[in-house]
Amino acid sequence: MTDTPTQLFIGGAWVGAADGATMPVHDPATGEIIAHVSDAGTKDARLAEDAAVEAQREWARTAPRVRSEILRRAYEIILERTDELAHLMTAEMGKPLAEARGEVAYAAEFFRWFSEEAVRIDGGGGVLPDGRNRMLLSRRPVGPCLLITPWNFPLAMGTRKIGPAVAAGCTMVLKPAPQTPLSSLALAAILKEAGLPDGVLNVVSTSRAGEVCEPLLRGGRIRKLSFTGSTQVGRLLLAQCADNVVRTSMELGGNAPFIVFEDADLDVAVDGAMVAKMRNMGEACTAANRFFVHSAVAAEFGRRLAERMGSLVVGPGTRDGVDVGPLIDAAGRAKVEKLVADAVGRGAEVLVGGRTPEGPGCFYPPTVLAGVDPASRLMETEIFGPVAAILTFDDEDEVVRRANDTPWGLVGYVFTEGLDRALRVSERLEVGMVGVNTGLVSNPAAPFGGVKQSGLGREGGRVGIDEFLEYQYLAVPVR
Ligand code: NAP
Repeated sequence: MTDTPTQLFIGGAWVGAADGATMPVHDPATGEIIAHVSDAGTKDARLAEDAAVEAQREWARTAPRVRSEILRRAYEIILERTDELAHLMTAEMGKPLAEARGEVAYAAEFFRWFSEEAVRIDGGGGVLPDGRNRMLLSRRPVGPCLLITPWNFPLAMGTRKIGPAVAAGCTMVLKPAPQTPLSSLALAAILKEAGLPDGVLNVVSTSRAGEVCEPLLRGGRIRKLSFTGSTQVGRLLLAQCADNVVRTSMELGGNAPFIVFEDADLDVAVDGAMVAKMRNMGEACTAANRFFVHSAVAAEFGRRLAERMGSLVVGPGTRDGVDVGPLIDAAGRAKVEKLVADAVGRGAEVLVGGRTPEGPGCFYPPTVLAGVDPASRLMETEIFGPVAAILTFDDEDEVVRRANDTPWGLVGYVFTEGLDRALRVSERLEVGMVGVNTGLVSNPAAPFGGVKQSGLGREGGRVGIDEFLEYQYLAVPVR
């Protein structure tokens, strides 16, 4: 896109980094540089923080209806520019255009949802049980927030945080992933066009995340961190938040079990697997990572899944008919290659895929592994690639125990035609979300998030705005 902003967005203005630094953005399908964007340092981050802090007071006093209408307008602009935004996302991240268009719609929906929530923030009150005091409850924005997003859903991870922050009346500094800053900068331009006041959202693209973010978290002026990324980085950031007791929302990694019982409809299970595994080339925190299939149906499930996975077309996301784009970068692909080699070394059978193609771009073929040894490294690592690893089980208690035997707890998938079993197993899974006979749980109207080391808090749904609000309770004597 010729007119996509490439500079930092601070106080409503587009500015270069104070030291003039820029960083390249690559197309993972070709390895070519598609843009250079400003590369913020600590001085720029401080200016962005200043702008957010300065704008906070006035923004908190802005009528909810005004905040709501800004979000609604931004929602409409995003949809009007679906094609443009989808091309931008495919260029910097690699996902096929059809998936990128889907993400644009998903991302926009967070703005529509929170435009509706902005005007429904309520407090409460009444006479306390002792009859001597009244309680007045009001809800107030938590204050300036730092938002840190990953590269895998460049637009939606931004709107999922910005939507509730705007609705609640918080100002923000957004630090996007260095691989995909263009989508976030385009989003900032749209919000400005929709009427967002200067300083409410500031965007600092940077290749120096640690250097730029730590002073903000330790400085005492940022009151909230909303982070989406790996558990490893999340843990580090939680420690940085501790000194000033900064509030946190953490959307971290997953290790999703995908359980297929012997009474499952296998067509439904394979359809679900295609979504749970192949959405975003497997580069999703919700991606099915461990397929537990009952031994009575494992061979047939593996055969059908391999047939479907093997029929997918791999190539640049911009090309017509392509189902699977490149992985984000060479390091991402090398990790997938190593995990597959480890599983195969431990006896897994490759039903389809498994071989890195020649040529440019970070492509990896859809791969199905059967008879995976439970000791394989991919059982305890997010694969983050198009690899389905199948293990077998014989007993319900056994599969629940094995599914829960991980430090993560984001999402699980259960396939069975038995209602009792579906509910019983779902309730026993230690996860924040369960897909019952479906491979897709993400929806802006539902609370997204995990338990255990998959995170703290929820994004989306009625509760999503709570992450950006505080309660204030007034005690008023009854006279
Ligand atoms: P990541 O390495 O943790 O990075 C996420 C973001 O944190 C990036 O913007 C990154 O910038 C930044 N970051 C890294 N170190 C930092 C530091 N010391 N201080 C401040 N910021 C820092 O994760 P990723 O590889 O981009 O994304 C994949 C991970 O995200 C997976 O684990 C996936 O499961 C998770 N994810 C979770 C959800 C969810 O909702 N639960 C959704 C999507 C993705 P740099 O790259 O410059 O370091």
